[in-house]
Amino acid sequence: LDPSSEKMSFTDKEIEKVLRPQEFEDFTGQEKILENLKIFVEAAKLRGEALDHVLLHGPPGLGKTTLSHIIANEMGVGIKVTSGPVLDKPGDLAGLLTNLEAGDILFIDEIHRLSPLVEEYLYSAMEDFKIDIMLETGPNARSVQISLNPFTLVGATTRSGLLTAPLRARFGINSRLQYYDAKLLTTIVMRSAYILKTPITETGAYEIARRSRGTPRIANALLRRTRDFAQIKGNGEIETEIARYALNALNVDEHGLDEMDNRILTTIIDKFRGGPVGLKTIATAVGEDEGTIEEVYEPFLIQEGYLMRTSRGREATPAAYQHLGRIKSGTLF
Ligand code: ADP
Repeated sequence: LDPSSEKMSFTDKEIEKVLRPQEFEDFTGQEKILENLKIFVEAAKLRGEALDHVLLHGPPGLGKTTLSHIIANEMGVGIKVTSGPVLDKPGDLAGLLTNLEAGDILFIDEIHRLSPLVEEYLYSAMEDFKIDIMLETGPNARSVQISLNPFTLVGATTRSGLLTAPLRARFGINSRLQYYDAKLLTTIVMRSAYILKTPITETGAYEIARRSRGTPRIANALLRRTRDFAQIKGNGEIETEIARYALNALNVDEHGLDEMDNRILTTIIDKFRGGPVGLKTIATAVGEDEGTIEEVYEPFLIQEGYLMRTSRGREATPAAYQHLGRIKSGTLF
């Protein structure tokens, strides 16, 4: 149930594709972002131009890849998909760029992981639709400038803090995806169940939704595991009881927190008396990168009211104590 896509199995990937909304209409939530994107897409289409470059940021599994495919669909253009770590050298990027047709989308996932050399190469492509390519090597080497078809770069990142200012400045559209509330996730689970031909009650869907860490990818994964329980232990329908039974059997946290969320809270409470404690100290104690904690884990913990960011550091809230079954020391009864 790890939300990072790299760790998923082949079948998970396949099913994820089937469940992926294809049009703005099928995409639940992120209303402000959709509202704006629809206007930008419509306007670009009217003018017959490529859409401005789009930067999508936010934690894994919230719909960045999905949105980039929807944008391509709605624009009626092709899409090429790659990722930051895959683009090793400028030549790799040149190959992709020169194969884009007018208006096409180039989707670069994990764009914060581009090497500086490749990133710099991207600048003129984004700005002027021009790149320099090297002809021949050795003493005859020379570079020529070639023109590209106008295209749209859609960059996705979980770590916007790692993006350089010059790269960030080259995106005309910049959107931050938010975690989904349980109501929106219920809608997503119901839709996915329908596609997978799994009978489900609304309260059953809600049970899955509220334990999905605000993340559609996790909600879909839990739906599939719950479906197995419903088939073997129940009558095939996912209703509240069987959903509860399944999620408990799967050890899914009552409030959808994952292992690292819980480890962060436990560390703050048990090792640092509930804080305040600095981010760096927490990072060392839990063995996770500082930026990842700040951009991937903290936003959810703060949104759900388990963690507070103060000028002196991070503090666990009473809700965190309650969640972990701890009693705050120094509390007077
Ligand atoms: P990201 O690129 O942000 O990691 P994805 O776009 O790959 O996330 O989404 C993960 C899965 O969650 C996809 O299978 C998709 O079907 C589903 N999903 C994401 N956002 C939504 C949404 N708003 N509505 C319905 N399904 C969604």
